[in-house]
Amino acid sequence: MTALSGIDPRTASAEIDLTALGDNVRAIAAHVAPAEVMVVVKADAYGHGIVPCARAARAAGAAWLGVATINEARLLREDGDTGRLLCWLFGEDEDLVVPIALDIDIAVHHPAQLSRVVAAAATAGRTARIHLKIDTGLTRNGCPPELWDDLCSDAVDAAEAGAVEVVAVWSHFAAADDPEHPANAQQLAVFNAAVDRARSLGLTVGIRHLANSAAALAMPAAHFELVRVGLAAYGVDPADGDLAERAGVRLRPVMRLRAQLVSTRAIAPGTAISYGHRWTAADSTVVGLVPLGYADGIPRAASGWGSEPGASVLVEGSDPRRAPIVGTVCMDQFVVDLGPDAREEAGDEVTLFGGPDTPGASDWARACGTIGYEIVTRIGARVPRTYAGGGQ
Ligand SMILES: *Cc1c(COP(=O)(O)O)cnc(C)c1O
Repeated sequence: MTALSGIDPRTASAEIDLTALGDNVRAIAAHVAPAEVMVVVKADAYGHGIVPCARAARAAGAAWLGVATINEARLLREDGDTGRLLCWLFGEDEDLVVPIALDIDIAVHHPAQLSRVVAAAATAGRTARIHLKIDTGLTRNGCPPELWDDLCSDAVDAAEAGAVEVVAVWSHFAAADDPEHPANAQQLAVFNAAVDRARSLGLTVGIRHLANSAAALAMPAAHFELVRVGLAAYGVDPADGDLAERAGVRLRPVMRLRAQLVSTRAIAPGTAISYGHRWTAADSTVVGLVPLGYADGIPRAASGWGSEPGASVLVEGSDPRRAPIVGTVCMDQFVVDLGPDAREEAGDEVTLFGGPDTPGASDWARACGTIGYEIVTRIGARVPRTYAGGGQ
């Protein structure tokens, strides 16, 4: 997608407030201090734009950035970022010389992977900085506990040979968004035992990191030396609710998704709307057309079908109010019910989420049966991002 094939930013855009991002990073840093903060900017900074968000995070004091892929990390280096940077997901055929040569820390979760890193370090002619990942119960990515001794012993040998520097031991929670979930305490115990074991096998473990946004907000015992924060930095509560509020951390949404109405029209009772005629007006009303659809990441599950309400937008202007989606969300557009007395016209503004007093990404997530993460990360490449605020 190029800017030329995207939506005209006058018509619809995702406004990214980098001042809010910086404020969120500082608020989280104050909450977790003395632990340091890694701001996670994978997936195009959760849809917000990786380069401007990475710069803003650094300007707000982020000692670390985190990404999933090597290419994401490489992009940041090409942008001139020289700070500490971790990537943690790469495939069997990827060239590990690239991250090592670019001074990117890499995650290692298996003895075979460590062998690849050692070989790549020799080719690169420098020491690879690695973070050993133990699976503490997410059962996704991480060293299975039965291989942990082997991985640690191999890492001791590789460190003695100068091939690697073991920077950290780390892991990831399965249910941190539910602080009462019994898995949290179990994972914490497995993690502490794995660190102890690594130390007793001869590793110096300078940094331990386990917490994502939810644990950074709600689980002080998981802060250790470093926390990895994605969603909260973008001002979306990780638990569809009030984890941030309960932690006394004030977060502001970074993305405001807005559009101009393309048209408005009065419709008579009995008028059916959009594909499948899944919504029919009971009374006379006025509807408005919003030029964003599922190709832009508006979930089709946000549709308003029959009496099942979908998501809603905030109508801006002199009479601000919520207007629900009616009928099926299409590829490029959807319809909202502005109410019988609506005075809005084509060109008037609606906010889908993220403004002051507007629905949040969490409200959309609730209406769509998903999580705020999916709402923001799926905003498509056709939607232009516009940037305001510091750190650019
Ligand atoms: C995405 C990710 C994070 C950030 O999670 P949030 O819940 O967005 O804070 C942290 N660690 C790992 C391993 C991740 O994949």
